[in-house]
Amino acid sequence: QAKQSGRNGMRFFDQGMQDSLSARARLEGEMRLALERGQFELYFQPQVDQHGCPTGAEALLRWIRPDGQSVPPSSFIPLAEETGLIVPLGRWVLEQACSRLHAWQSDAATSGLVLAINVSARQFQQPGFCGEVHEMVKRHGCNPACLKIELTEGMLLENIEETISSMRALKEIGVRFSLDDFGTGYSSLQYLKRLPLDQLKIDKSFVHDLATDSNDQAIVLTIIAMARSLKLDVIAEGVETEAQRALLERLGCHRYQGYLFGRPMTAPAFQAQLTRKAA
Ligand code: C2E
Ligand code: MG
Ligand code: MG
Ligand code: MG
Repeated sequence: QAKQSGRNGMRFFDQGMQDSLSARARLEGEMRLALERGQFELYFQPQVDQHGCPTGAEALLRWIRPDGQSVPPSSFIPLAEETGLIVPLGRWVLEQACSRLHAWQSDAATSGLVLAINVSARQFQQPGFCGEVHEMVKRHGCNPACLKIELTEGMLLENIEETISSMRALKEIGVRFSLDDFGTGYSSLQYLKRLPLDQLKIDKSFVHDLATDSNDQAIVLTIIAMARSLKLDVIAEGVETEAQRALLERLGCHRYQGYLFGRPMTAPAFQAQLTRKAA
């Protein structure tokens, strides 16, 4: 029977697989159109220091459907990575980020803010990536020292030598690097110390139950100790409550990002929050 169905390749796929394949094909087509039609938007979530003062923001992608519905990245980034659409999409993000940085740097009140962007493995490993960053930074006239790239552990393991040399090339123009979702991967100290990183970002899964879970406290403490011994800055994501923030501070983490300080918001909303804080 297997032999028989083998003659017709399509028979290997059951109806469920067919349906999900066509749903993915549809989503891919919609993403392409959305990019052409300007339906993506960058949101900004504040990152703050120990006094609650914004030091910058993380740029987070949103897909705003024509009906106003906002599609979260978790439902399109994985497919964009698989299909390669993440390359033009990521290029768009970088373009927007440079333009935002330029705007910030034209105003004394915001000129020191650092903007962090998420870059997928597939985008970072594109041969022309460094050159593209170079070119965009120049064209927008923004200071690359205020640009931070968030990478994830998994992707760094894949191609460590090439990754290190690309990171070095970007560091030469001042770009900084943060290791996102830290603690969820498999990085050893041994290998972390080879990477020219500036920051570890504690994953929000360790922050969520921090006040009650002693395992999470132990993990966070270990991450902070690792950061210290590697001379890296450390920031916690997903900080929602004052209890979490206070505990993080007690454990030695003095940079925070999370709903406690602001949700991801549009550029004008971010600007308005800064102005309110300053007043
Ligand atoms: P991430 O880089 O780890 O971003 C942090 C995520 O946590 C964001 O989800 C943010 O909205 C959410 N978050 C922030 N504060 C809190 C909090 O206090 N509590 C909780 N529960 N969540 C919080 P978001 O915006 O849905 O993004 C999900 C992921 O999608 C990001 O995780 C990142 O991996 C990816 N992503 C977002 N934008 C881009 C992009 O421009 N390019 C690429 N390649 N990936 C992106
Ligand atoms: Mg991130
Ligand atoms: Mg993260
Ligand atoms: Mg995360």
